[in-house]
Amino acid sequence: MQAALSKVPDIAAQVTYAMRIMGIAPLPRNYELYYEAYLGSNPKLTKELAALGSKATQEELDGIASRYFAHIHHAAGVDRAHSHLARELGDLLRLLQDEQSALENYNRLLGETYQHITSKSTTSVELLRQAVTILTEATADTMTQGKERVECVSLKSFEMDVIRQELDEYKRIANTDSLTRLANRRAFDEKLASVYNSEHMRAQSSLLVADIDHFKKINDSYGHPVGDKILATVGTVIRTSLRRDAFVARTGGEEFAIILNDTTFEESFHLAERIRNTLSGTPFKNSKTGVNYGPITLSIGLCQAVQADDPVDLYNKADIALYCAKNTGRNRSMVFEDGMKKDTSRSWLIYRK
Ligand code: GH3
Ligand code: MG
Ligand code: MG
Repeated sequence: MQAALSKVPDIAAQVTYAMRIMGIAPLPRNYELYYEAYLGSNPKLTKELAALGSKATQEELDGIASRYFAHIHHAAGVDRAHSHLARELGDLLRLLQDEQSALENYNRLLGETYQHITSKSTTSVELLRQAVTILTEATADTMTQGKERVECVSLKSFEMDVIRQELDEYKRIANTDSLTRLANRRAFDEKLASVYNSEHMRAQSSLLVADIDHFKKINDSYGHPVGDKILATVGTVIRTSLRRDAFVARTGGEEFAIILNDTTFEESFHLAERIRNTLSGTPFKNSKTGVNYGPITLSIGLCQAVQADDPVDLYNKADIALYCAKNTGRNRSMVFEDGMKKDTSRSWLIYRK
């Protein structure tokens, strides 16, 4: 199946293809699960999913999802917020329709009264008095109804604002990596695609792909929980080394990606070096036990958006530069250049996922 999979062009197609082969129901939540497993960002999740093989029941899949993706629980919340919103909009529409028909009635009454007055050859005082009474009542009714509706509409718009905030929160959770609080792979894919939305963005953007050096040793020597803490600190160091408008994501296990906009090539390289130097100078000493986990270092691959045709090409090229940084000694930043290749005979990438 792996050979067949490699012929399928992109990740989304590969995931869908694999799900079909394994008879997994094509539900968005299942797709999400297999997408994460495919990326390998959480080795335990990948292992658990693989252990289910092709006989996974929906219950088992949902069980894994609820353990690994807190935001999946929010799917029900999103559904609720969605139907709440639909209901509020329906009510609002009905209110506006009522308002329209009230105004139409008022308009009709005005027209009829006008006709009544102008069709009489002699305008009696009584007739005018009646007309004024009818119009006064109709105006008062229309105004009262209008006022009630304005109050209703403003209440509805308040409720809709609350729902919008809830949905924003669900979106934030779905796009956030829970360990580092940085953007996750899903948010990164979206952001990377947006780089190619305009020539201006493409001309000014670059991608940095950073991978922690020898991280497996950290896990093997000190355990996974220590590894997790170090990952979170590395995320913070990267985030705080950059301006707020830099986009920082944890794209996989011990891999981070940074999208820089409005930055020249020299600045991008300088920022990569700043991140790397700040991290290698960051102490990783356990104050209780005195154990020193550091130094923790990063290898970084850098590619400018103009050097690539599309987001996938950009990611691949930054990854090739990262591969070269790994192969030439680690703890360094390398810029993608034409002709750079992955030497698959001694690829560090084969150990990555
Ligand atoms: P290299 O310098 O070539 O990148 O070596 P490496 O050891 O960093 O790379 P490798 O790909 O061999 O190992 C990556 C390790 O990252 C293996 C895996 O256990 C660990 N890892 C991945 N995700 C997590 C995570 O969420 N938490 C922890 N603690 N470790 C993780
Ligand atoms: Mg690594
Ligand atoms: Mg890695």
